[in-house]
Amino acid sequence: MQNIDLHNHSRISDGLLTPTELVALAAKNGVTTLALTDHDDVEGLAEARTAAAAVGIRLINGVEISVTWGNHTLHILGLNIDSLQADLVNGLQSVRQGRLERAQRISDELAKGGIEGALAGALRYAGNPNIVARPHFARYLVEQGVARDVPAVFKRFLVKGKMGYVKHRWADLGDAVAWIRAAGGVPVLAHPGRYEVGRASMDNLIDEFVAAGGQGLEVVTGSHTREQVERFAAHAAKRQLYASRGSDYHGPGESYFEPGKIPPLPLQCMPVWTAWGETQIQ
Ligand code: AMP
Ligand code: MN
Ligand code: MN
Ligand code: MN
Repeated sequence: MQNIDLHNHSRISDGLLTPTELVALAAKNGVTTLALTDHDDVEGLAEARTAAAAVGIRLINGVEISVTWGNHTLHILGLNIDSLQADLVNGLQSVRQGRLERAQRISDELAKGGIEGALAGALRYAGNPNIVARPHFARYLVEQGVARDVPAVFKRFLVKGKMGYVKHRWADLGDAVAWIRAAGGVPVLAHPGRYEVGRASMDNLIDEFVAAGGQGLEVVTGSHTREQVERFAAHAAKRQLYASRGSDYHGPGESYFEPGKIPPLPLQCMPVWTAWGETQIQ
């Protein structure tokens, strides 16, 4: 029985576990194929590959690229990438540079609201100084006692309209998709149910993604309701796109679903892993 989970984070981005610890947990949970998909960085893949070989599971090289589409931030998974390919490496480098500059602006905004030292505080939680993400700020805000836990921080801080939010321009959709394709990977629109776009805009978004070279939708993911699973399975079927399955695991206490503990893909789906020769349905 296969258990394929293609969306997971480590300390190389905003996850809490090292790549080795993540692989060990996935193996314990019965995952047979795991993708490590850190935000905007592929630095964890080498360690994950060694750990996966040691416990006898298959590792798929992945990344989750931050993209700006109109007023929206989208996340595009690149699955089964050549993580050394130059276009991808250079593109991710440019996204990471933007991240550091944004982290300084987030810190400045929090300071205006009376919360000092946030950049240094967030950096203490970041496993990789090149990827300072909002969860690192959130953990620092919990430490400072301004909220009980990370989800509570995201209700009152760091999001549109709240203290500590800053606008930022990430990669262009077409560029991110092109980097993934250049690296031989499959571009998959991550957690489409999380984007606050209406039904018509969602069709436009998927159409643009496909026109740019996008090839799959993440149908089953930790944040999708059953209704969203069915809806995005239908979107994928209508356009003959691949369907992906990934927990979007970030670590103990920060995710509802552990690696491998999410539902199977609906039967009508064309699983993305068939693109690289996995033969199992689930
Ligand atoms: P960033 O890329 O720095 O904007 O950080 C985005 C990350 O913050 C996402 O990948 C999630 O891990 C986390 N995140 C975003 N919104 C929430 C939320 N409402 N609750 C908890 N975590 C969130
Ligand atoms: Mn994240
Ligand atoms: Mn995401
Ligand atoms: Mn993710």
